Amino acid sequence: MSGSFLVETLSTNLATVHSQIAAACSRSGRSPDAIRLVAVTKYAEWPWVQALASLHSIFGENRPQQLAERAPRLPDVQWHLIGQLQRNKARLAVQHAAMIHSIDSLKLLSRLADVASEMQRFPELLLQVNVSGEESKSGFAVDELVEAWPRIAALSRTLNIVGLMTMAPASEDPEAARPTFRHLAELRDRLTRMPPSADYGLTLPELSMGMSGDYVVALEEGATIVRIGSRLFEGIV
Ligand SMILES: *Cc1c(COP(=O)(O)O)cnc(C)c1O
Repeated sequence: MSGSFLVETLSTNLATVHSQIAAACSRSGRSPDAIRLVAVTKYAEWPWVQALASLHSIFGENRPQQLAERAPRLPDVQWHLIGQLQRNKARLAVQHAAMIHSIDSLKLLSRLADVASEMQRFPELLLQVNVSGEESKSGFAVDELVEAWPRIAALSRTLNIVGLMTMAPASEDPEAARPTFRHLAELRDRLTRMPPSADYGLTLPELSMGMSGDYVVALEEGATIVRIGSRLFEGIV
């Protein structure tokens, strides 16, 4: 496949996504400039990633190992880790990620606090919430997060906790995701009203929610970050 075909296809796909983002923002009275589009490259071959880097500058990887291999090769890209992180890979994530979307336990959070202080690198962090309660999904349960909040807030002294992330249950119908996204936004409001949040200046401005099939609905419900993979690479395989 020629490089110019790749760039053209990616460019068309990106333009479509950007116009959908703009339309959803205008429906919810927000500026599209406030939205971060994370291009998810976990299934993308390296030449596609390189081609996309000429058009876009925020990429997300699922696995810490692949993030660590790719990030140094495209240092001008802002790399995010969006997939599950084991504590023994915390160092890789802190080294290479500008943002980690997938903090799913207090243990991982305190490990990151140690590693971040030691390395003097402080990536933006999102707490992943399993809003739908599906067993197959990782993330804090809602009650667990509320209960752990005072301890999490205290850890935010040494960490850059900026918001929440969730994944909606898989469905053909984007509307099926709306309750999950709305619930995450409400949870953010609830957490920021809890007293420890004010003590530590925790405002949780970022909501990472929405993927290829449901990002329009996520934006209508207040997403500030959308994570889009397959839609961007459509027509390439
Ligand atoms: C793969 C993945 C995405 C992107 O999914 P698409 O449906 O390909 O857009 C977003 N978020 C996470 C956590 C993922 O693992």
